[in-house]
Amino acid sequence: MRPSADIYDLASLTELSEEAIGKVLQDRYNGDRIYTLVGDILVFLNPFKPVNVYTEKEFSCLSRPDWSGPVAVGNEVGSSAHIYTVGTAAFNLVGKDSTILISGESGSGKTESTKLLLQQFVKMASSSQLNRTRVAECLLAANPIMEAFGNARTVMNHNSSRFAKFVSLGLQGNALVSSEIRTYMLEKSRLLSATEDEGNFHIFYYMCLSSNSFFKDVRPLGPLSLISNAETLGRRYTDLEAKATEVLDAFDKLSFTAQQKEGVFQILSGLLLLADVEFRSEEQNHTVCTSLDPKSETTFKLACKRLGLKGKDSRRRLLKTLTTSKLKVNDEDIYSLFHEDKTRLVLNGCIRAIYTKLFDWIIQRHGRPDPGTRVRQIGVLDIFGFESLAINSFEQLCINLANEQLQLFFTHHVIQLEQAEYQSEGLSWVEIPFEDNQVTLNLFLERPLGVLSLLNEESSLASGTDESLYNKLMKHLVDKPKLQISAKNPCRVHPVTYTIPGMVEKNRDKAPENTMEVLASSKLKLLTEIISSHHGSKAKAGNGKQQASAGLQLAVQFRSSLDFLLAKLRESQPFFVRCIKPNRDNAANSFDQEYVRRQIHYCGIAEAVRVRQAGFPVRCTYGELHLLCPVLSFLYGSGRLESDAARVRAVCRQAKLPAEEVAMGKRNRLLAKEERRYCGRV
Ligand code: ADP
Ligand code: MG
Repeated sequence: MRPSADIYDLASLTELSEEAIGKVLQDRYNGDRIYTLVGDILVFLNPFKPVNVYTEKEFSCLSRPDWSGPVAVGNEVGSSAHIYTVGTAAFNLVGKDSTILISGESGSGKTESTKLLLQQFVKMASSSQLNRTRVAECLLAANPIMEAFGNARTVMNHNSSRFAKFVSLGLQGNALVSSEIRTYMLEKSRLLSATEDEGNFHIFYYMCLSSNSFFKDVRPLGPLSLISNAETLGRRYTDLEAKATEVLDAFDKLSFTAQQKEGVFQILSGLLLLADVEFRSEEQNHTVCTSLDPKSETTFKLACKRLGLKGKDSRRRLLKTLTTSKLKVNDEDIYSLFHEDKTRLVLNGCIRAIYTKLFDWIIQRHGRPDPGTRVRQIGVLDIFGFESLAINSFEQLCINLANEQLQLFFTHHVIQLEQAEYQSEGLSWVEIPFEDNQVTLNLFLERPLGVLSLLNEESSLASGTDESLYNKLMKHLVDKPKLQISAKNPCRVHPVTYTIPGMVEKNRDKAPENTMEVLASSKLKLLTEIISSHHGSKAKAGNGKQQASAGLQLAVQFRSSLDFLLAKLRESQPFFVRCIKPNRDNAANSFDQEYVRRQIHYCGIAEAVRVRQAGFPVRCTYGELHLLCPVLSFLYGSGRLESDAARVRAVCRQAKLPAEEVAMGKRNRLLAKEERRYCGRV
């Protein structure tokens, strides 16, 4: 038998249990064989150390347009399990768009895999063009910017992407002619929740801790609350200077003007300062009145200056929106006063909104549009995996829902592949009994009584609260399978528990209108531009103020992005890359069997295997009949019948093997439900 480390395609295993798969993966991992195939799904085991498989040799062997069949990958001869193989297949596909879906948990290597693919595409394209094109240049430059503004140090990964992205490239022949990046679900709550272990977005540390002279005039002094962990966590950045320079260069490569580039950091500086402004509430004549804490006056003034609000008057107007709310009743302005807690909420909402808008604006500027003529597209999706944290809220609900949806897509795809295999063996239709996650998905997505619709309904009502959401969920969904709703354990969708408090407000995602309106009047052109620009979607933009009040709920935006992705997927050829983290400590040479087994289960490898098991998991050649029917095939030993096929047919007949359980394929192969079960009666 072959040593299991040599099995680069798990589909050739006859025992397909999660344990068996885990064992082979472990053997391969020990030999630095980080890629393994399961049929045409690529499994990547993150080595957390440099492994020498991305050299010119691998690139040129695996990226050839006429590539076919196994080559040598690193120290492995005869394998084709490699990310470049997937890239090549996607790049060379004709007549159809291709989409590569990369999934896995945080730190498993999704973003690095995406980068490897994009680099490969640029290289494959440029080898067919004399010069590297502008499109390629922008695509490569977008990466450091995206990572600086959208990645952070977390417990799981020191460079963790806190957003999902879909990169699509347009190809004409082999030339790269367009690129577009869509980002989703930037984790804006991170902005105001940095701790000892969980960092803020990298860019703040680059800006405040590097000595780059570009930041000289905008770098705020002193301890800053947004990066209160700068001393501990910030010091763990080993390549800070290089990263800061790389980001600044990338802005130039992407043709941001000097004014825009400065504007970006003015805004960041303004946000850092704003977060440090303190307020205090006093009671006067039985009403609470909140004002600026005198010791914060200088900070507030400087924050306003950085945000382009010059002069006493605009400062006063900003302060007013932070401490009172204005409501028009019968054409009359009614003011209500905030307690300082409320002021803090408004201010934080504002910081989150501006940062998100800035992020979207920067990413959108990277785009190099389609030249119009029909081009072939390759999409790469880098999306976070399932999350089940100590507390799961709206963000996890969206992430997990996206994963459920992709999982269903994956399962259907795997079933299709399996059917195609049977067809090529000449079997017309094989029923593959399989339980998918449609029930769970319906629970969320059904209209009008799915979790998302009910959440949207509550969020759109002025009177909607978490409590009324809870009551609605109880009323409409309490009897649904797979869901438990209780006041104590608010909402449990097997096996994740979501907590309802905060959901309604998070979904509303309302930037404080009045404050945003004042900020939109800034003298800083960039700030007014990003505030009035419409988020993500291609919907026709009205004026900024209207949108702020109409405010698309997050779940609605999320759903339309998900629909967009699914539509893309359905019309293209999907390729799947499943990334696996071998241990929780991001350590090299350490393989935690149980941890890996769990991921094999979640990331759909087990799913693929189950589909296979539901059909005919055992494949062997006629000559290997003894694997299936040891006794009978012995009796009918070779030579007694003229041909293998005749012998096989005789054995099957004699053993009364039902056609649903063993089938004779066209390609001299036997397909069976189970190995060694069919001993037959002699
Ligand atoms: P994810 O996007 O899944 O959260 P990343 O792609 O950021 O994970 O990878 C996390 C870390 O794993 C990287 O910073 C790097 O240290 C390591 N890593 C990822 N891919 C590879 C690879 N192909 N070879 C070596 N190390 C890798
Ligand atoms: Mg990532």
